[in-house]
Amino acid sequence: HDIYIYVYICMMCAVLVNGLVCKNPNVVTANDFFFKIMPATPNAQGSGVAGVAVDMLPGLNTLGISLARIDFVPGGQNPPHTHPRASEILTVMQGTLLVGFVTSNQLLNNTLFPKQLVVGDVFVFPQGLIHFQLNNGKAPAVAIAALSSQNPGTVTIANAVFGSKPPILDAILAKAFMLEKDTVDWVQQAFGAAPVAGGGGGMPGGGGYPGGGYPGNGTGGGYPGVPGYP
Ligand code: MN
Repeated sequence: HDIYIYVYICMMCAVLVNGLVCKNPNVVTANDFFFKIMPATPNAQGSGVAGVAVDMLPGLNTLGISLARIDFVPGGQNPPHTHPRASEILTVMQGTLLVGFVTSNQLLNNTLFPKQLVVGDVFVFPQGLIHFQLNNGKAPAVAIAALSSQNPGTVTIANAVFGSKPPILDAILAKAFMLEKDTVDWVQQAFGAAPVAGGGGGMPGGGGYPGGGYPGNGTGGGYPGVPGYP
């Protein structure tokens, strides 16, 4: 079968940098540094992430940056996730977003830093920390996220924990999340049954979270029942 070899570009580097082959600078053109980003179709979570990392824009090789355009339907969210290799600086281009990140166990003992954003607002998510964005407005929202790595990586918490293949032993997750094993099984099956679309997705269809459901969204407010969000 065919073997595809991506050729990555850097203007001043050895043959191989970060595992990616560098292109001969004598044959580099402007198009090696160009990419046309298209909005991603929103997934089951109501958000579409169009990433532009080194695998799509070879000119990013060795430069330590990349970006993503995120489109949200009203009530849509980019669920809790982390980028192992990058901090993220997000600008709201359209609509409103409730965003936040959680510190580590050691630093401030898992403190949540939430913020309501409107057009023009900028918010930073420090490297490696769990963060999210929710469109809590009534109109579509668009944000541009810049990331401090050419290959930031994304770990979506729910998918990684409950949707791993093969599944993590349900007894482990039941104990860790203080849930009944049946509940863990239900969630794992929901992830297994729902195909991942657009890089996110996979939420239980038509269900809501077990044990009480999730507060409604799209009302233009913060989380109902959680006072004190700025
Ligand atoms: Mn992110």
